[in-house]
Amino acid sequence: NRTLLMIPGPIEFDPAVLSAMGAPTASHLAPDFVEAFGQALERTRILFQCPDGQPFVLAGTGTLGMDSACANLVETGDAALVVNTGYFGDRIGNILERYGAKVSHVRAAPGDHPALEDVERALKTGSYKVMTITHVDTSTGVLADIKSLAALGQRYGALVVVDGVCSVAGEELRMGEWGVDVAFTASQKAVGVPPGLALLVAGPRALAALKARKTPVGSYYADWNNWLAVMQAYEARKTAYFGTPAVNLVFALDVSLGQILQEGLEPRFARHARISRALKAGIAALGMGQVPLNDAIAAHTMTAPRFPAGVNGADLLPLVGKAGVTLAGGLHPAIKNEYFRIGHMGAVTLGDALATLGAIETGLAACGYQFQAGAGLAAAEQAYLK
Ligand code: PMP
Repeated sequence: NRTLLMIPGPIEFDPAVLSAMGAPTASHLAPDFVEAFGQALERTRILFQCPDGQPFVLAGTGTLGMDSACANLVETGDAALVVNTGYFGDRIGNILERYGAKVSHVRAAPGDHPALEDVERALKTGSYKVMTITHVDTSTGVLADIKSLAALGQRYGALVVVDGVCSVAGEELRMGEWGVDVAFTASQKAVGVPPGLALLVAGPRALAALKARKTPVGSYYADWNNWLAVMQAYEARKTAYFGTPAVNLVFALDVSLGQILQEGLEPRFARHARISRALKAGIAALGMGQVPLNDAIAAHTMTAPRFPAGVNGADLLPLVGKAGVTLAGGLHPAIKNEYFRIGHMGAVTLGDALATLGAIETGLAACGYQFQAGAGLAAAEQAYLK
């Protein structure tokens, strides 16, 4: 059964990326691979907009990005502040605690974002080594104002860590200019490569903090000290070994990053914003609310519609699937059964958004929900063309 995969990762991948995945696996020491890995690292640095940052491309998932950021920056007893907008804020809090940090959270109700004043008040009262922010919390679709938050973190001397798993390559993120010390993502989201790679960039302050540690990094695999020489070697088109690179995934990553930079970061962010606007207009026209409380804090890489009154969520998504589009259920524990999630990132097109809305309309109709057929599609088109 062919369906369009419109979940917040993995997503639909470009055929050229998939064909790179399917090429015969080269040695990780082969000249072609050295070139591809070196180029992928250079392109990762450009994608994160961190000219003086050190990129790491590791076999693993987004959670490895979270884990390695925490493992390398935190020593037992350090204080850490989590700007928490949902499930992934809770997760990074747990990871920080695992490495011995004393963790405080600034929370907001599901769908809301903590006020900058609340974050500043917290920064004032503690002496935080690290402050983490989830750029787009995939459990709520809430978008954080990284520029303002990173400036605050810097002002109070915290290392600023951004979980960009649901944002990088889809939402604007200027690591260097905005004062972000570490950011990471995973391959299966807006970067547009099947699951299996964590991409992370560490800025100079983060690397200095690693050097200044008094105790060893609490994770062997995630220790940047083990990977630094490898990343630097490949970027210099040489080889070095610590753990075998995910050869096929790295080839695919290089292809995808090439496409991303070819499109241009600004046009790519604008495309995501435009498709998001269209999809959200379609959802609203069908009488559905959304988890983020307002547009200013709503992601452009995903949408989190609330099930309309009278529609049983457990019924709707399989019906949408039957109509040809795979969507995701809720993830935030407090509101899990009240909403669903649509991912629209990477190579996503207006056509994908319209197909999604069409399948949602078909599913709603099968649930007996009353609405004007085509209303969502028309509103999406109008918003797109505006
Ligand atoms: N952070 C965010 C914001 C995410 O959306 C995800 C994945 N949905 C993760 C971290 C964890 O990534 P992974 O599932 O690849 O480990």
